Formats: sequence, structure tokens, C-alpha cells
Amino acid sequence: MKTPLIRSSELSELNSCNVWLKMESAQPTGSFKQRSIGNACLKYVEKGAKKFISSSGGNAGISVAYMGKALNIPVTVIVPKTTSQKAIDLMLQQDAEVIVQGESWVEANELALSLVNDEAIYIHPFDDQYLWDGVATIIDEVIADGIYPNAVILSVGGGSLISGIHQGLKRNHLDIPIYAIETDGTASLNTAMKMGKHIKLEEVTGIATTLAAKQVCENAFLISQSENVQAMTVSDQDAVTACLKFLDDHRTLVEPACGATLSVLYDKKISFSPTEDVLVIVCGGASITFEQLSKYAEQFSLKTVA
Ligand SMILES: *Cc1c(COP(=O)(O)O)cnc(C)c1O
Repeated sequence: MKTPLIRSSELSELNSCNVWLKMESAQPTGSFKQRSIGNACLKYVEKGAKKFISSSGGNAGISVAYMGKALNIPVTVIVPKTTSQKAIDLMLQQDAEVIVQGESWVEANELALSLVNDEAIYIHPFDDQYLWDGVATIIDEVIADGIYPNAVILSVGGGSLISGIHQGLKRNHLDIPIYAIETDGTASLNTAMKMGKHIKLEEVTGIATTLAAKQVCENAFLISQSENVQAMTVSDQDAVTACLKFLDDHRTLVEPACGATLSVLYDKKISFSPTEDVLVIVCGGASITFEQLSKYAEQFSLKTVA
């Protein structure tokens, strides 16, 4: 679905430039996964898929469930025990079969892969060209709205978002810096860039579970090596603070995975010139409630209004 592009008065003033918010949080499933997973599901149905299998306990699984219902295709999502009830409820709401298996994603994914056959297709959460094709339409829409950004800021988990945005920039002939944001505990791209090697982290930690891929997809790593990618990390606390501010400024609840990107602007970590148009991908996220955000705020001794 096309999403609104909003000039943020608050963030523009704070950063002395034009900050444009691409509101992927407004997608029916609450995140940009609607574009990536949405496109992949359509393509696999064209190729004969009769069932979708996912192992994502987060936004990817929620979007596979949504697409299954929309396309009248049965969906099985295998999720680890750590998956939030909120996420499971959202999948059940779309009539997906949800199986809870294993302590972590690795075990859930093993079971998921064992269910795959010629007709039951595994939908990868981030490493598939079809996913990136769907994401690239974000940039087409921004251009169609008449904005030619001078920089783009986005969050990185497994790397489908950065892959698709890069593809969209390329085909629209925009050669601009990409600021790739992770939390300290999920810095798989940041670490790989520092080492100049496509590494896999030993472990990922913290509250931004949506960004918790131990290794980014190879395409994302290659982009980081060949293009103007600036990697930055933020603390969980800064991500939560940004979620709270964003809720007040734009009346939109987003996951810390998205707050990480917003915090770079709230904390003025990059300097822009007044004529610059800065595009922020508000990736969103449905695995958050106000109650959960308040708990995080308490955990970090932050003030909430409620
Ligand atoms: C999936 C997701 C990300 C990370 O995207 P990758 O393509 O895995 O890098 C960030 N934020 C939200 C809300 C997401 O759903």
C-alpha cells in the first residue's frame, strides 16, 4: 500500500533541515514488511505456491499471515517460545496456524524448513530478491511525491530494508548517503563494516529483537562495501526515548527497532544543511503496545506522561 510522506516539523526544526517521514508504520500490518513479504507472497503464488511457511515471530510472520488470508492461501508460522503474545495474536487474527517450537529462532526455523515442499513455500524474512523488489517501491513513491532526498536514514536487521532502498535509489539515479542504524546489541552490519568482512555475531542482545539478525544477508554486506553507507549504533535507551518522543510528536507507536533510526535525529547525531531533504524510513513494527513501551521506559527510568 502507498504510505504517507510527511514533513516532520519537530524533527526538521531540531535538525535544521527538511526531515521527511515515510510512514511505513501506516501499512495494514504496521511495518514495511507488507511491501517485502507482500511482494514475495504474490510472486510465489504466481509460481504455484499452495501454502506459505514462515518462522518469524515478528513483523515478517505477521505479514505472511496477512498475505495468506488476502490470497486465500493457508499459512503456518513456527515461532520460538520468546515470541510475544501480541505477535501471536496478530497472526491468529489472520487465521494463520501458529506453532510454538523451541527456545530460539534456530529451532523454530528447523521445524519450519522441514515442512517445506514443492507447494509449501518458505518465505524468508530478509534474504530474497522478491522482498527487495517490494521495498524498492518506497523510493518510487517518494520521487512521485516530488521529493528528491539528499540522504536516507533507516534501520538494519537482516538487511532487506537497506537492500530494497538501495535498489530504489539506483533505479531513480539517486546517489546519496545511506545511514544504516542498529542498536548496540544487534550491530551485525556495523561490525561487518568495521572488520571489512561478512561476519556473524556470536550473540545478539537487547530489546530491539526485530533487528536481531546475527548476520546480515550478503547483498546488504556488499552494498555496505561498494556504496556510501554510514553505519551507526544507538543504545536501547536512546531507541526507547525516541519512541516516546515520536508518540508525542507524531501520535504513532513504533517498535524500538524503528526508534533506533528516529533517535539519530532526536539526538542530532548527523549534521545537515538547511536546504537538504532527509528521508527517514519509519519502518514501524506491530510487536509493541503502549504497555510494553511503558515497561521499557520504566526499565530505563525514563519519564512517561501516563
Ligand atoms: C524487519 C524490520 C526491520 C529490519 O529490517 P531488515 O530488512 O531485516 O534489515 C526494522 N524494523 C522493523 C519494524 C521491521 O519489521
